[in-house]
Amino acid sequence: MPTPCLIVIASPSGGGKTSIIRALRERHPEFEFSVSATTRTKRPGEEHGREYFFLTTEEFERLIAADELAEHEHFYDTYYGTLKREVDRALAAGRSMIFDVDVKGARSIKERYPRETVQIFIAPPSMEVLERRLRDRGTEDDEKLRRRLARHPMEMEAGRTFDHIVVNDDLQRAVDEVDAIVTTNLQ
Ligand code: 5GP
Repeated sequence: MPTPCLIVIASPSGGGKTSIIRALRERHPEFEFSVSATTRTKRPGEEHGREYFFLTTEEFERLIAADELAEHEHFYDTYYGTLKREVDRALAAGRSMIFDVDVKGARSIKERYPRETVQIFIAPPSMEVLERRLRDRGTEDDEKLRRRLARHPMEMEAGRTFDHIVVNDDLQRAVDEVDAIVTTNLQ
C-alpha cells in the first residue's frame, strides 16, 4: 500500500481551485476530503459536515482552546480551520486526503506534516482573468470582494514556495496535471 499523502491545494480567491478539487475527487473517490470548520455563513447549496462544519465563533474558539485544530486562519472576519481529527483519521486508515485551504493554511500543514504533505498552487493565467472570475462568481458583496482582491499579491507571492505550481488556463488540462502530480507522489 502506498504511503498516504496530504494533498494541499491552494490558490488566490477565484483561481478555480474548487472546480479542480471537485474533478479530482470524482476521479479519486478513494481520497478523503478534509472538511474544515468555519464561522462563515452557509451559502445556498452548502451542507453542514459536507463543505464545512459551520460553527459559531464561540464553538470555534473552543476548538482553538482545546488544541483540536491542525491549523487555523482568521480572515474576512471569519475563522477557517483544519480539524486534527480529520487528518488523524485519514492517516490512521492509510488514506490520502485532499485539502482546500488558503496559502497560509497550506504552509502550516506542510510544517506540521512535512513528510506526508504535497502542496499544489493553482495559479491563474493572469491577474485580469483572476479578478474577472471572482467578480463573475457573484458570491461576495462589494466590500468582501474588495478584501479578497486585496489578498491576491500576498497569495501569488506565497504560491512561489509551493512544491508544485499548476496554471489554470484550461480546466481539463489543469486537472490532468494535478492528477499526474498526485499519482506520481503516491508511487
Ligand atoms: P470560502 O469562504 O470561499 O469557502 O473559502 C475562503 C478561503 O478559505 C479559501 O481560500 C479556502 O480554501 C480557505 N479555507 C477553507 N478552509 C480552510 C481551512 O481549514 N484552513 C485555512 N487556512 N483556509 C481554509
